Amino acid sequence: MPRVEGFEQWPQRVSVTEVGPRDGLQNEPTVLDIAEKLELVHALVAAGVTSFELTSFVSPRAVPALADAGELVAALRGLDGVHLSALVPNPRGAERALEAGVDAVVLFVSASETHNAKNVNRSVAASLSGFEDVARVLDGSGIALRGAIATSFGCPFEGDVEAAAVGRIAQRFAELGIRDVSLGDTTGMATPPLVAERIRHLREAAPQIAPTLHFHNTRGLGLANVMQGLALGVDRYESSIGGLGGCPFAPGASGNIASEDLIYLLDEMGIATGIDLDGMIEAARVASRLMGRPLPGQVSKAGPRLALGDCSAVPTARG
Ligand code: ZN
Repeated sequence: MPRVEGFEQWPQRVSVTEVGPRDGLQNEPTVLDIAEKLELVHALVAAGVTSFELTSFVSPRAVPALADAGELVAALRGLDGVHLSALVPNPRGAERALEAGVDAVVLFVSASETHNAKNVNRSVAASLSGFEDVARVLDGSGIALRGAIATSFGCPFEGDVEAAAVGRIAQRFAELGIRDVSLGDTTGMATPPLVAERIRHLREAAPQIAPTLHFHNTRGLGLANVMQGLALGVDRYESSIGGLGGCPFAPGASGNIASEDLIYLLDEMGIATGIDLDGMIEAARVASRLMGRPLPGQVSKAGPRLALGDCSAVPTARG
């Protein structure tokens, strides 16, 4: 991809993990069946997506939308060059993930106590010590471990979250040998200055960690925060096709940044992803059809910048 003038110092290539099938669908009122999920994932694979946060091995009673986790992984395992990760809350989930054949397991915790308690009914310290039990189940399996820190930029119940709290959790992940850690903006509280502060602190507190940024567009700053991450050299992002995944704590608010909007931005900046924008727009339309409603993503509605309209179909303005 040709470098764009003024952006030569920014990452030349960025990896984008698609979280729509897990983070997106888990936070949607409409539950897709497995055939519909497979249609969506295949549309994304056709567009060149190779990294998925596919599902979560939580209790099927707690999250009915993801009760098909094992079946879904089994149906997609072995797709050429496609990397499947899944969230795992406890050793039982790790056993199921191992049996299903995921490529990576994501250990997750919130940076704030109240959100962690609401999410997994445990203190942050209890979540962190539980990671060792999960890691033990997977030891020697060849399955990669990743970390995810929710409410990294603020908590809907507690407000501001300190950079030091995020840094301490990242250090704990590093002690477990985990390098790949995502900072989640769970309810869209990140701003560019906060992104800069978190990344600087993380690089000092846990220099082994290669951060991934996971933004929500709840307050409209999703892609502005991506720009801040890029300016600081962060080259891993997570996004959700169509912007799937409203926030359960803020009804009506848009959730994850839309993958096709992110790819559009990266394309325009000359940053390679291996993902095709037209294919992503098609996948966003598949997602919208399956959900039965328009999704928050914008490029799929307007088309790319140079997708010109049919001039003859538009009336000429008078006066
Ligand atoms: Zn998310």
